[in-house]
Amino acid sequence: MWVMKQSQLFTKTKKESPSDEVSLNAELLIKAGFINKEMAGAYSYLPLGLRVLNKIINIIREEMDAIGGQEITMTALQERATWEPTNQWDDSIVDVWFKTKLKNETELGLAVTHEACMTKMMKSFIQSYRDIPKYVYQFQTKFRNETRAKSGIMRCREFIMKDLYSFDVDEKSHMEFYEKSKVAYKKIFQRAGIGHLTYTTFASGGMFSKFSHEFQTITGTGEDTIYVDEDKGIAINKEVYNDEVIKELGLNKETLVENRAVEVGNIFTLGTRFSDALDLKYQTESGESKSVFMGSYGIGPGRLMGTIVEVLSDDKGIIWPLEVAPFKVHLLSLGEDETVIKEAIILYEKLSSVGVEILFDDRGDISAGEKFADSDLIGIPYRIVVSKRSLLDGGFEVKKRTEKSGKIVKLEELLSMFL
Ligand code: ATP
Ligand code: MG
Repeated sequence: MWVMKQSQLFTKTKKESPSDEVSLNAELLIKAGFINKEMAGAYSYLPLGLRVLNKIINIIREEMDAIGGQEITMTALQERATWEPTNQWDDSIVDVWFKTKLKNETELGLAVTHEACMTKMMKSFIQSYRDIPKYVYQFQTKFRNETRAKSGIMRCREFIMKDLYSFDVDEKSHMEFYEKSKVAYKKIFQRAGIGHLTYTTFASGGMFSKFSHEFQTITGTGEDTIYVDEDKGIAINKEVYNDEVIKELGLNKETLVENRAVEVGNIFTLGTRFSDALDLKYQTESGESKSVFMGSYGIGPGRLMGTIVEVLSDDKGIIWPLEVAPFKVHLLSLGEDETVIKEAIILYEKLSSVGVEILFDDRGDISAGEKFADSDLIGIPYRIVVSKRSLLDGGFEVKKRTEKSGKIVKLEELLSMFL
């Protein structure tokens, strides 16, 4: 479905902000009818919201496929035995588990993440150096019993994550992919419209690398603190920010600027932590048995969507970047005049026949003022107004969501704008 009549849409915009939300993203997304709150930290995606989420997912999918990713989907139900070898079943070590039981009392966990499951699964497919490198990813539901869930869709207790896992022969081969993934991540955030605010950020690593990397988007409401080098386009997370690291990265304390930010993605060198513990080995060319060298690469599409709303909205509502917008055009027909309605329908049909994604506000009982307000709230990139006035002026009024006023455009010109 790439076109939709607003009169048919079951969701409605709300005049009042929800009283139980403190975050801007939840407030706007609920008011505009993109999401519905089921409980704190758990949101349903409604028709408009799902369209945005799917567009974000598709951007991520394209960029993961472009660097050799193969998509799968794993189960949310997980076995205790999978997480015991790395000592991650214990609630005192991983404190966000949701756990459940089979009828026979066998314990199960709801996916917090998938490193161990993925490692275990790949044992069936990786035996020889010829079988790797391999890059496997999914968009899959994670469950985390987060203490604070006040950031709308940016921190949920149930959320979709894109998690990719890399399987390489050694660190050198791993690092080549790791660097490619950084470029892919930059492209994703660029395409999602927040590239200019998103910094590759040095964060704490693990046993196998000094650093991991986070992709942090500057926003006053962010939970993290980062130190940005504007010229180099990189940043340091507070947890690793010290004189030694600043020097090591060739940065200058004087030019680093402290900012609040939200982590929209991260990449991590896992090394052989999981492959050692779960016995994922391959035979080298000379017949030696070695542990597979791994990495993990996460992005939360919902958190990314929430972040876009946080950083790109204005006092009237959301401003969707073109590539993630629910529709490209919001067509408004004003008034009950028959010619206006007829012209609007003709335009709607013409544009939809050439594949332009349109939301058509064909509602008859809504004032022009309300239609404008709803359009600003929903935040579709282009607004086209058909009214008695616009027809008298010679056509249709086209305005970008980011512009103050529109201009009158004739039908042919309009069609060529969107082809
Ligand atoms: P944070 O530090 O913000 O808690 P994390 O480091 O635990 O996140 P990962 O486990 O690495 O996050 O998850 C990968 C990505 O999934 C994150 O970069 C983020 O985009 C997203 N994500 C993590 N937790 C949540 C959540 N509770 N709700 C929505 N998205 C999330
Ligand atoms: Mg983190």
